[in-house]
Amino acid sequence: MQDNDHQSPEPGCIAAIMPAAGSGRRFGNDRNKLFSTLAGRPLWYHSAARLAASDQIERIVMPIAPRDRETFAAEYRSLIDELGIELVDGGSQRTDSVHAGLEAIGEDAAIKRIAVHDAARPLVSSEDLARVFAAAAQTGAAILATPVSGTLKRDLGNGAACETVDRRDLWIALTPQVFSVDLLRRAYQRHRGCGATDDAQLVERIGHPVTLVRGSADNIKITHPEDLALAAAILARQDSEYQP
Ligand code: C5P
Repeated sequence: MQDNDHQSPEPGCIAAIMPAAGSGRRFGNDRNKLFSTLAGRPLWYHSAARLAASDQIERIVMPIAPRDRETFAAEYRSLIDELGIELVDGGSQRTDSVHAGLEAIGEDAAIKRIAVHDAARPLVSSEDLARVFAAAAQTGAAILATPVSGTLKRDLGNGAACETVDRRDLWIALTPQVFSVDLLRRAYQRHRGCGATDDAQLVERIGHPVTLVRGSADNIKITHPEDLALAAAILARQDSEYQP
């Protein structure tokens, strides 16, 4: 785990891939959950605006589901343009969507690192962004993560018996997850088809260590409808803390 407070000196050296092409089945809505509003703006906009506010982010590529393209074009054109977001078609798995983002970034000499950030995480703080960007500049691979706080149980069969899992070394992976461009490309070339719930897994599989950077538990992923009320409360608190 690294606790790095220093901002990397290079502005404009990071491209963000913000996967937004999920089906949101657990959210239980016909429309993409990312169109749900928080303080009057769609969720995906909050996530992108926080990335765009960093001077290290040069590009934001957002893989979207083909079925959502019309909504983005009709309802969100001005917000997309405001943040300079590049839309690409995502895929059926999250790794397919990130891979489409990697292809869209192409060969860009200005870009040294890639930050993958779930569009469903609208509350990441500028401090956490700066810390994970700085760590990735040093190690080539760094992710935000937060320690597991609850007691963990392993089901030993049909819920009839369980055992307690030692949580002392366990962390919950958050995003952004930030990697040097070559490293992430190599990881995707080798392991993309293998299934992964985050990008760090693919990088771990090619044997490169991934640095854990402790991030705020505020950086929740909106998964279920009830998460929206929690997100609104966190946003209100963040606003009251950051306003002069
Ligand atoms: O489903 P879940 O919320 O865990 O997905 C995390 C992020 O990955 C979301 O922002 C979602 O839109 C995105 N995703 C994607 N393509 C997929 C599946 C998920 O871009 N096929």
